[in-house]
Amino acid sequence: MSQSRTRHEELMEQARSLIPGGVNSPVRAFGGVGGTPVFMERAQGAYLWDVTGKQYIDYVGSWGPCILGHATEKVINAIKAAADKGTSFGTATAAEIDMARRVIELVPSIKMLRLVNSGTEATMSALRLARAFTGRDKVIKFAGCYHGHGDSFLVKAGSGATTLGTPTSPGVTPATASDTLIAEFNDINSVKELIKAWPDTITAVIVEPVVGNAGVIPPVDGFLSQLREVTSEHDILLIFDEVMTGFRLSPGGAQQLYQIMPDLTTLGKIIGGGLPIGALGGRRDIMQMLAPAGRVYQAGTLSGNPLAVAAGLTTLNELCPATYDLLEKRAAQLEAGIRANLEKLSLPYRFQRIGSMACLFFTNRPVRNYNDALSCDTDSFARYYHAMLSNGIYLPPSQFEAFFISITHSEEDIEKTIAANYDALKSCPS
Ligand SMILES: *Cc1c(COP(=O)(O)O)cnc(C)c1O
Repeated sequence: MSQSRTRHEELMEQARSLIPGGVNSPVRAFGGVGGTPVFMERAQGAYLWDVTGKQYIDYVGSWGPCILGHATEKVINAIKAAADKGTSFGTATAAEIDMARRVIELVPSIKMLRLVNSGTEATMSALRLARAFTGRDKVIKFAGCYHGHGDSFLVKAGSGATTLGTPTSPGVTPATASDTLIAEFNDINSVKELIKAWPDTITAVIVEPVVGNAGVIPPVDGFLSQLREVTSEHDILLIFDEVMTGFRLSPGGAQQLYQIMPDLTTLGKIIGGGLPIGALGGRRDIMQMLAPAGRVYQAGTLSGNPLAVAAGLTTLNELCPATYDLLEKRAAQLEAGIRANLEKLSLPYRFQRIGSMACLFFTNRPVRNYNDALSCDTDSFARYYHAMLSNGIYLPPSQFEAFFISITHSEEDIEKTIAANYDALKSCPS
């Protein structure tokens, strides 16, 4: 077979020889759907253009940050204006105060804020802080929730329901993993059992209040409030990892939508407006323990970087009730269209959505936890994915990721997507 290679294949070959796996973050490598990743060159609004000039309607949005669409004029201008004054000072800046004030105004439970450089740093630091505050070591996380690549979170359940966690990656020590316990999302009893099995040893429960890293899994009624109750009862801190949901599901994130006050919150993605930032915030008594106010060490050469703060703050300042109305309108249009397609084609797949986060699960059962998500037919998803891609629709290249709608997706973009979805579903029967 002497088919000529595509530009993407050529680039991937070069990339593979210089960068492990050819990418700087694993999911970009298309491992979940097979084939060669598309090398992108440019983005504007709801669109991406690849290195061959092909245009796509984008539902990845840089994995969440681009709620206003790509290359928003105001954001780009704010970055340019900041860059003109210098890219990094390694000193205190006034813009960081504006950023902290804005986030504290928006997110109900946050009384003080620390800026870091990624979501991973935010969750790692939040866990260290929780341990220092409570004097306890173990953390409960939920199967299928992603909290970045810190050692403590690269952990899966041990052999029994209440046994210690084991590493999911070489290089994470069994000792570190043994401080992480795994519960089942949407199952409050799994949390209660762990608390009972490990009395006075659990520092925190960390959760994605809406799971967005195993597809999209909303909490069932009462789950988050029960989580709040049971953690308070046992002096365990509740950490909401809102790196994805923060500013996306409402101006105040999932905690505002579901009216729950966590003790600590981690942020990332939208808060940087497409530049690298993360943040952690929460109760004043806990946050005051961070150095140099307190003794819990946490630092960063580029933390509070002026370009990232300018991009993030400009993005946050653009968010208003009309933003969320528009996101809901477009996302509901997409949902209605895809559901109608599934019905017309008599396919049992599940479309799950909350606000502008959505996922089409290739399974016939409702997805309430990670195990349900694992029941998906990933081969059918892969065929569907490539049919969508060749039709110019750029979805996250994995069954276990959320797709995101931005305010720049037009009614017409959504209509095109629904039509492509129909054709793709029709051409890839299970
Ligand atoms: C993306 C994500 C992270 C990790 O953030 P990075 O900036 O990629 O380190 C952590 N938690 C959640 C919920 C995320 O979606």
